[in-house]
Amino acid sequence: MRHKRFILPEELIPTQWYNIQADMKTKPEPMIDPRTRKPVKAEDLYPLFATACADQELNQTDRWIDIPEEVRAKYANYRCTPLVRAYGLEKALDTPAHIYFKDESVSPVGSHKLNSALAQAYYCKKDGVTNVTTETGAGQWGAALSYACSVFGLECAVYQVKISYNQKPYRRSIMQVFGAQVTPSPSMSTRAGKDILTAMPNCQGSLGTAISEAVELAEMTPGCKYALGSVLSHVSLHQTVIGLEAEKQMEMAGEYPDTIIACFGGGSNFGGISFPFMRHNLLDGRKTRFIAAEPASCPKLTHGKFSYDYGDEAGYTPMIPMYTLGHDFQPANIHAGGLRYHGAGAIVSQLRKEGMIEAVDIRQLDSFKAGCMFARAEGIIPAPESCHAIAATIQEALKCKESGESKVILFNLSGHGLVDMSAYDQYLSGSLLDTGSQENI
Ligand SMILES: *Cc1c(COP(=O)(O)O)cnc(C)c1O
Repeated sequence: MRHKRFILPEELIPTQWYNIQADMKTKPEPMIDPRTRKPVKAEDLYPLFATACADQELNQTDRWIDIPEEVRAKYANYRCTPLVRAYGLEKALDTPAHIYFKDESVSPVGSHKLNSALAQAYYCKKDGVTNVTTETGAGQWGAALSYACSVFGLECAVYQVKISYNQKPYRRSIMQVFGAQVTPSPSMSTRAGKDILTAMPNCQGSLGTAISEAVELAEMTPGCKYALGSVLSHVSLHQTVIGLEAEKQMEMAGEYPDTIIACFGGGSNFGGISFPFMRHNLLDGRKTRFIAAEPASCPKLTHGKFSYDYGDEAGYTPMIPMYTLGHDFQPANIHAGGLRYHGAGAIVSQLRKEGMIEAVDIRQLDSFKAGCMFARAEGIIPAPESCHAIAATIQEALKCKESGESKVILFNLSGHGLVDMSAYDQYLSGSLLDTGSQENI
């Protein structure tokens, strides 16, 4: 029988995360404190983030960083995740390409986000913190952090982007089941929220605004820290468990990827699957291609510019050297809420600048078309975000069909879409717009 799923035992859950910064010849520029115009030091981040996360954020020297045993033990609830050969999709496309996907949808909350949520909640607990606050778009990060906080006995408060709060009520319920307090953003409970609601009463929110609200709450509340689900370097670091496992699994399959593809919001699942393989490009002269799939309505890598910008809408965060559409960019209301972010993380931005990373933009209707094709071929309904990676994978596989080359393509299935069926409903009924807009509320 030909092998379909490549499974690793629990003992092979990685013991260390991979820090690509140690191997980059040109390191990312430092984050800048907008008040002093000086590079941010780890101590500057201690009031806001868990100390270990702040240290990891600025670590450009240690190639390997130990995963705490307590975190590994929780990873064992769902890791190692399977690597799957997508024979069904290959057949549907009639392509000579070999397509593999890493299935992060099997996590208890349905996405890769738990890989960092467990680490961040653990480090907050270790710091003696009682409360954690965050923002969420489609609710994937909020759900992951709510669960991780319940695992480590922390209170969790989540600002959810209003459009998603209304479009995806079940993610809100999931967060509430795990005991989190959920507030639609923009809200009147923070200065940042009040400011934007006064200027735009019908504002449907964005990740940038929700971050401002969560940061403000963390700064105002004693014993409270903030956790971010993407963009920052320590988040991508935690996600490298994806690529490290996939490396071993591709070995089991007896192949090595020519092309690696992931959808792109702030870059954490993309970095997570890519960086461990990219280290062989950096160190061993491999020529693997890396393709980030972003939505046409929020195209920072393909249409943004590289500059220092804030991570949030109100300008509370340090300035990050990134590809950005501007921190006040208000993305269209597409269903891939996790991709509605104005910027890209500093590491990925530097790699993009150096030409190590390619990017494609995918229109909303094409993403759902690809998602439905994948669902029918492989039996898994992908998250709207992941549909972008699938659409890019299909493009590459069809190029192989034209050229007759049997390339090995690996993509990350960042999550399942079982809580996003209202989006599929709209797609199937023909009422979904191509780029998403106010009409889709
Ligand atoms: C949040 C999310 C993304 C985008 O975030 P990245 O940090 O770019 O990975 C992609 N897929 C799913 C399922 C998500 O929940």
